[in-house]
Parts: sequence; C-alpha cells; structure tokens
Amino acid sequence: MSSSVSDVVNGGISYWYADDGLPAVREPLPGDASADVVIVGGGYTGLWTAYYLKKAAPFLRITVLEQKFCGYGASGRNGGWLYNGIAGRDRYAKLHGQEAAVRLQRAMNDTVDEVVAVAAAEGIEADVHKGGVLEVARTPAQLARLKAFHEAEAAFGEKDRELYGARETAERIRIADAVGASWTPHGARVHPVKLVKGLAAAVEALGVVIHEQTPVTEIRPKHAVAPYGTVRAPYVLRCTEGFTAALKGERRTWLPMNSSMIVTEPLSDEQWESVGWDGRETLGDMAHAYMYAQRTADGRIALGGRGVPYRFGSATDNDGRTQEATVAALREILLAFFPQLAGVRVAHAWSGVLGVPRDWCATVTLDRSTGLGWAGGYVGSGVATANLAARTLRDLVQVDSGQGGRTELTELPWVGHEVRKWEPEPLRWIGVRGMYAVYRAADRREAVTGAAVSSRLARVADWVAGR
Ligand SMILES: Cc1cc2nc3c(=O)[nH]c(=O)nc-3n(C[C@H](O)[C@H](O)[C@H](O)COP(=O)(O)OP(=O)(O)OC[C@H]3O[C@@H](n4cnc5c(N)ncnc54)[C@H](O)[C@@H]3O)c2cc1C
Repeated sequence: MSSSVSDVVNGGISYWYADDGLPAVREPLPGDASADVVIVGGGYTGLWTAYYLKKAAPFLRITVLEQKFCGYGASGRNGGWLYNGIAGRDRYAKLHGQEAAVRLQRAMNDTVDEVVAVAAAEGIEADVHKGGVLEVARTPAQLARLKAFHEAEAAFGEKDRELYGARETAERIRIADAVGASWTPHGARVHPVKLVKGLAAAVEALGVVIHEQTPVTEIRPKHAVAPYGTVRAPYVLRCTEGFTAALKGERRTWLPMNSSMIVTEPLSDEQWESVGWDGRETLGDMAHAYMYAQRTADGRIALGGRGVPYRFGSATDNDGRTQEATVAALREILLAFFPQLAGVRVAHAWSGVLGVPRDWCATVTLDRSTGLGWAGGYVGSGVATANLAARTLRDLVQVDSGQGGRTELTELPWVGHEVRKWEPEPLRWIGVRGMYAVYRAADRREAVTGAAVSSRLARVADWVAGR
C-alpha cells in the first residue's frame, strides 16, 4: 500500500462516474410550467417515484426538477449495497407493534428482488450480483452484538439468515481477526451510477419530463419554485434527502450526514486468491463506527465509512472531495481487514450526504390537505428503501386522486410518521461531532480490552443521537 494519499483521485463526484462517465446534462426548466405531479430531486427516490407513477397512470404529466444532474447526490456515490435494511424499523416496532414492523421488513426483503427484476426488465445493466449481505465481527464485543443482531433479525421474520463461526467466515472471506459473521440472502451488489443513469433513461422513455441544472429554492402547496420559473402541480413531492436543509423552511428537518468511500486499484488474481470473497456478498462489520464494502465488477474493493460526519450549519460537500485524514483512515480500515493487500494502491476517494431525521427513522408521507409529499431520511440504507418509498408514494397519490384504493404499502408503519426537528446550531454540530468521537473511542476501547460486552461509551452516544 502506498504510504501517501496525495496520488489518490479525490472527488469528481465518485469513482462510479470515473468508471462509467459523467452524463450529458439535460436542459434546465425554461420558464413557468404546469404538471400533474412535480418531483423535486433526481436520485433513486425521485426517479423511482416518477417511474411507478407513470407506469400506473400513463396519462399523468410528471416533471422531475434536479438541481445538477440525475444521480448527483447519494444515488451516484453510494456503496452499492442493495439490501433489506431500513432505518427505524425497531422504533416502528415499538410505536406500532412487532407485526407491523415484520410487514415492513418483508416489504424490504421483496424490494431487493423488485429492483433486481425491474432493472433486468428495463435492460439496465448495473453489475447486479445477488450474493447477500455478510456482516462480520472482529472483537468479542462485536461478536456479542452480532449474535444479538442475528437473533433480532430472526424475530423480524428472517428465517433464512445464517450465523457463521470464525472458520466458516474464513472459508468465505479472509479477514484478519474475524471471529464470526451473519449472512442474509436479501442483498445484492450494484453499480450505483449504472443503476441511476439507466433509471433516468427509462423514466424519460416513459414520457416523464426531466429538467436538470434546476435548483428548487422553495416548495409550497402546488408550487415548486426555481430561479427561472415555477412549476405548478396539485402534487409536489420532495425527494431531496441529504440536501433538504437548503430548501426554504427545511433547515432543521433532516441533518446532512457525510459518508466517505475509497476504491482500490483492480486486484490481481493472486490477491483475490488471498482474499477469497467468491460470493461477492456486500460486506459490513459490527463496529460502532461501522464500515461497508463491495467487491466491484471490475475487480476492486470499494469501502466506506464515516469521514468528517457533519459540517457546521448543515453544509453539504463540494463534488465529493474528501479530507485526506478521512482517506487515510479508510485505508487503515482496509489494511486492518486485509493485511495481505499491503501493496495495493487506493485509486479514488469521494464523499456524499445522507439525510438523517432526529429519530433516525425513514419516512414516506403525502399530506392530503396540501398535496405535498416527501420520502427519505434513510440514513445509510436508501438504495433499496428509495424503491419501496417510491411505490408507496405512487399508491398514496393514487388514493388521494381517486385512482386507487389503499394498499399493503400505504398501511406500512413508516407512512405518515412525524418527528421533531434537529436542534439549532451550534448544538447540532457539537452533538453530532461528539457522538462520532465517542463511537470511535468505544470501538478502540473494545479492541484494547477484548471485553465481550459493548462499551458503555457507545450507549452514551446512542443517547445523544436520540436512537
Ligand atoms: C457515500 C455513501 C455511501 C452509501 N452507501 C449506501 C449503500 O451501500 N446502501 C444503501 O442502501 N444506502 C447507501 N447510501 C445511502 C443511499 O445512497 C441514499 O439513501 C439514496 O441514494 C437516497 O436517494 P435519494 O434519491 O433519496 O437521495 P439523493 O440520491 O441524494 O438524491 C437527491 C437528489 O435531489 C437533488 N436535489 C436536492 N435538492 C434539490 C433542490 N433544491 N432542487 C433540485 N434538486 C435537488 C440532488 O442533486 C440529488 O440528485 C450511501 C450514501 C452515501 C453518501
């Protein structure tokens, strides 16, 4: 491994764009316009919503307004874990009962297959490989959490999940100090950009109008206001996730949390031999400041984790540029997992923003009195969840406009969930920065002491976080 991070390509939105090319940008909104539905944000949430609505009701005039280009946000930068995790499930179990949360989990399991099936049907080549999700433990405290996590997932109906000891884990993937792993089949690796580009093209082919380079400054009932014009529509759907704070009146709605990634140069056959990972599962761990990774279709390891988690005043990033200290920290994690890759160079690093609600629960809502809808707050689990949210928004619009009745999706417990706003600055900055410092300290303490229970520090951080 090179000792320097200065030769790493940094930013450029993400490695996925370096690999697949930046898109030709579509024309901005030319002036005032009208539609039946206007969708603000051209990530997975906005595009899937346009896709399903147009399929259900081809006569609808649907316009998507995107500030830069479709896939500029997290949908063009993520780790490519298309998996069944949803932020807030456990809280929804507390609020609405276990049975409701099990329905939500089943819907998420189905969503993984839905995305894979629709991508295939639409001819979207997104390097999809359904190898499941493997989560590993590397300390006794992580193993205790892994076992508890495994049992909890079974209680939410995941009977097909498997628990592995150190030897079985090593048969799949050679990770230093791995003492166990939990595997679920409900996950697939994807190339995020190929998915979002293909989806935008499919949506446009259906007859949806997409205007890019069109930043919406304000959303109000029946109006999406941009510098060069306003689109009027009975339904205005906000799908802006980590960028939501920039909209008028939304500064404290969802906190923009950064996540950063690195990708290695392609590994040689001998290096892959030393790693294993033939199942191409998406890979995660049980650290408090957790990592996530995938084996890419072009033979690299893409690995992510928390960098500088939050910028003062809910600022978002500059085209994915990442601090060198974060790049170095991610490279250290890569080497700690795979010391056998000591000679491998990091090729590219980037960051993106997630949307985090005050109670860390993803939501999807349509306010019937105003026609305003929104979906998001997925924290780090939006690749599949955005699809479930989109199908739910479709059903909610169908119900409201008298085109359809209530469905299984409109009855899921995350629909219409309300949560208070984040604290004003500087409390937000102090709280979130402090929380991640404590999580990292908890990980270090667990590794040093070898204790088989989670550090008390982590519980303090959970309390600060409001989880
Ligand atoms: C580095 C990173 C790694 C991740 N890894 C994973 C993973 O492996 N698996 C997983 O499940 N999730 C992951 N996530 C989260 C996941 O990518 C997101 O939850 C998901 O992409 C959200 O999709 P979205 O469409 O809601 O938001 P985005 O993709 O952020 O899209 C929002 C869009 O709205 C546009 N926009 C915002 N404001 C305006 C405005 N005012 N006017 C017009 N347009 C606007 C933005 O430009 C953007 O294109 C990761 C996120 C990051 C940042």
